[in-house]
Amino acid sequence: MAQLQLKNLYKQYRNKKSKQQNDFAVNDFSLTCNDGEFVGILGPSGCGKTTTLRMIAGLEEITKGEIFIGDTKVNDIHPKDRQIGLAFEDYALYPPLNVYDNIAFNLRAKKISEQKIHEQITQIAPLLKVDDLLDSRPVGLSGGQKQRVNIARAIIRKPKLLLLDEPLSHLDGKMRQVLRTEIKRLHKEINCTTIIVTHDQLEAMSLADKIAIMKDGKLQQFGTPLEVYDDPANEFVAGFIGEPPMNLMTVKISKNMDEFFFDFPKSEVKISVPQRYHSVIVDGMTVKLGVRPMDVLIGDKTSKGSRVHVAVFENLGEERKISVRVGDEFLTLTTAEEIRLKHGDIIRLQVKAEKTHLFDVETGQRIRATD
Ligand code: ATP
Repeated sequence: MAQLQLKNLYKQYRNKKSKQQNDFAVNDFSLTCNDGEFVGILGPSGCGKTTTLRMIAGLEEITKGEIFIGDTKVNDIHPKDRQIGLAFEDYALYPPLNVYDNIAFNLRAKKISEQKIHEQITQIAPLLKVDDLLDSRPVGLSGGQKQRVNIARAIIRKPKLLLLDEPLSHLDGKMRQVLRTEIKRLHKEINCTTIIVTHDQLEAMSLADKIAIMKDGKLQQFGTPLEVYDDPANEFVAGFIGEPPMNLMTVKISKNMDEFFFDFPKSEVKISVPQRYHSVIVDGMTVKLGVRPMDVLIGDKTSKGSRVHVAVFENLGEERKISVRVGDEFLTLTTAEEIRLKHGDIIRLQVKAEKTHLFDVETGQRIRATD
């Protein structure tokens, strides 16, 4: 295993597939993944995740910037000499070969002895639960089994770095969950520095020690799952992480006597602004207010919360998801309470003011409170 460092990495494609000639698919991307760490690169389709991974693997030319694996700058090192294990979303197994021969393929190409290959496969196969499948051919395997073989093939050479590109995206929901847990267990056992590329925030949140969130080729935030969830750097991260997503609503600050309020346009909803924001707001200012659905509560009849109409009520088994109309926008809340509501019912909204986040309406950057 080894540390991975990306230093001011850029990628510009110069062919028709790029949206614009001057667009950078990866734009000034820097990141350090420590020895043995599991890092997720997360972002929407087209944000540059795979391009970044392919540059690390040496499969894509770097326009500008540097990549270090350990102390070695690998920009000009051939992919096969970078000591990287790769598993992409499509399994790319050789159909005529059985599982054993598929896993052995790259070792044989390196002229490793059959005895050594046998020893390594015997060690790796149980870790990925493919020991019973060694005689099977890929055509008879499920998607989950194929991906296990694929990952076994990637780690058999004991790489310094394991790169996984959307390894679970072809699998159905249940199998994704199972394999997600197994990848996490595998990482703990082999302790190999690992990068996973995914557009699935749940996958990144549950697997990775740290998450790099990308948008339009640029790094938006790099932090632990808790940091990106609780302390988002900007509106994009706030809206991207969390399911259901954070409510992000445009509100105006008003002042009455010494008290500040968030006023929701075209509605009577008013929330008292927590003291910690007082030094960063002014009367009349417009801001984006972010609050997670679980931080909006339903007040009882005696509460001071604003009255709002229920637009949609969904019973999701373990929790209830309620969408209420606030002016021209909808605000979502979730609750574990055993309540039943219907369209048109009136509830009282109580927002946990201490859990709110503020963002600049122009730049989307976080407006930080002074604690
Ligand atoms: P997805 O989740 O859909 O795989 P991604 O985040 O991995 O997306 P990339 O595949 O890295 O995104 O693509 C980033 C940008 O670079 C996109 O605008 C894409 O169209 C462009 N791009 C990717 N590969 C090429 C290529 N070979 N030639 C030209 N443009 C490319």
